[in-house]
Amino acid sequence: MTTAYHASGSVTGPCGHAHRTIAAAEKCRRAHAAGCRSQGGYSDREVEHADGSRIDGWEYDAIEDAKIS
Ligand SMILES: [Zn+2]
Repeated sequence: MTTAYHASGSVTGPCGHAHRTIAAAEKCRRAHAAGCRSQGGYSDREVEHADGSRIDGWEYDAIEDAKIS
């Protein structure tokens, strides 16, 4: 089973991608957050499964790893 991820927020909406890795989705989320910041705004996007379900614990860990690198 292939899992896809996207970054989505209730205010800013989903990014519209189907990222194949959680690191790619996190990179997308951070790019959006940086773009919002540069315009004085705020991104409320979080990484979740492309079907809208919440990510699991090991997936949060993968995001933490992605933030370090
Ligand atoms: Zn994206």
